[in-house]
Amino acid sequence: MTEPLRVLQVSAELFPLLKTGGLADVAGALPAALAAAGCEVRALLPGFPAIMAGVQQAEAVGQFTLPWGETVQVLAATLPASAARPGLRLYVLHAPGLYDRPGNPYEDAQRQPYADNHRRFAALGWGAAHLARGLDAAWQPQLVHGHDWHAGLAHACLRFSPGPRVPSVFTVHNLAYQGVFDAMRFADVGLPQEAWQVDGVEFYGQLSFMKAGLVYADRITTVSPTYAHEIQTPEQGFGLDGLLRARRDVLSGILNGVDETVWNPASDGLIVRHYDAAHRTGKARCKAALQEEAGLAVRRDAPLFAVVSRLTEQKGLNLVLDGIDTIVRGGGQLLVLGSGDHEIERAFAHAAQSRPGCVALRLGYDEAFAHRIFSGSDFTLVPSRFEPCGLTQMYGLLYGSVPLVRAVGGLADTVVDADLATLADHTATGIVFADFTDAAFRHAVRRALALYAQPRAWAQVQQTGMQQNLSWTQAAQRYRAVYDAALVAAA
Ligand code: ADP
Repeated sequence: MTEPLRVLQVSAELFPLLKTGGLADVAGALPAALAAAGCEVRALLPGFPAIMAGVQQAEAVGQFTLPWGETVQVLAATLPASAARPGLRLYVLHAPGLYDRPGNPYEDAQRQPYADNHRRFAALGWGAAHLARGLDAAWQPQLVHGHDWHAGLAHACLRFSPGPRVPSVFTVHNLAYQGVFDAMRFADVGLPQEAWQVDGVEFYGQLSFMKAGLVYADRITTVSPTYAHEIQTPEQGFGLDGLLRARRDVLSGILNGVDETVWNPASDGLIVRHYDAAHRTGKARCKAALQEEAGLAVRRDAPLFAVVSRLTEQKGLNLVLDGIDTIVRGGGQLLVLGSGDHEIERAFAHAAQSRPGCVALRLGYDEAFAHRIFSGSDFTLVPSRFEPCGLTQMYGLLYGSVPLVRAVGGLADTVVDADLATLADHTATGIVFADFTDAAFRHAVRRALALYAQPRAWAQVQQTGMQQNLSWTQAAQRYRAVYDAALVAAA
């Protein structure tokens, strides 16, 4: 048998240790999926409080000094196995001065990015490079896989640190967050002057961590085929579309999977009743319980629309706000779980106050409640302005909460619009609309209400969605192929 390929995964989040969005779900699911594709993955993480608290058997394997003189201890640790998943070996950067802060890993209590974020994530990059160069004598990666801008600098650190070349792959989960810093920070991060150029980390006179990943990785991936195209256009390239077009031969879109050990209504320990595509009666119990818990009228016949989301501009929630009247007049209900932008929070709070029993809002982040929402709702709304992959529409599919989505990014790749043709050939899985306008969203809601009112068509769409194969198996094989290509490129 051939030896597994040793891969160091580098990210800022990893479910179940720390999660603010889809990145954590992906980082948490990939190692086990990649094991089946012949990889031995270890994950490198910053020592945020939640991560330090969640790991076991942490012991120091070495240390290194950052360009500004601070010393970081590298701990090897274990994320214990659970009933559902095997254990995972981790490296954690123990640097309390950088990471030991309560709350959100990226922002302070006023929701401002930490002023030293360039240092906090340069440390992650240098940690990856030191491990690739053999900091842990017992385990040396053959390839480094970085995720999003937090890990972007790792690719530059690898390229500019002495020693044999270790190939790397960089995955873009969201090009909108780029890790851009004032030019004067460049001196801090410890890269040689030659990295400060248009074909390096310089981005319109600033330092860009995202660009470091895009320039110096051997292969680039993003999280859906459609998004891989979109980011090569000026509309969605956030100033990096030219670079992405220039590197299109090494760029691929690999659709995220769903971790079915976590997201499966037939075995989910967080929901009220189990059910599956063939036996959906349990879902009615989940719905009644959810309506009760959320303070909505307990009505079986009222189509229940749900949003589980970061409340940001990206997610198109102004369309939902405008569409509330259409939902309520059509006999529907709306439940929102999320947190983020204060104005969006306030607008939903106002809507919930003025329509008690029909509209409900839960502010905050609540993993267990999210599971109960997918299990109890009829529709999952994801009307995003842009959406690299999107996970909630996939959870909606598997839980029979029919997704209503905009045809963009991974949403376009995962949901099939219900029309006469797709209903006839049983491929319909949701409602898809194109234009980012209030009118287009309202029309989509009306189509959703009409679908719900036709029990046979409704049941068919719901069931087809629940039967989708969204597992990580295929994606892991594709990542493995990208790894192999990176190894060849770097040889
Ligand atoms: P993004 O990464 O842009 O936030 P995704 O759809 O890819 O969007 O992933 C979002 C993940 O975060 C999903 O697992 C979703 O269930 C979860 N999530 C978002 N907001 C909340 C919340 N307020 N409470 C619980 N889970 C949430």
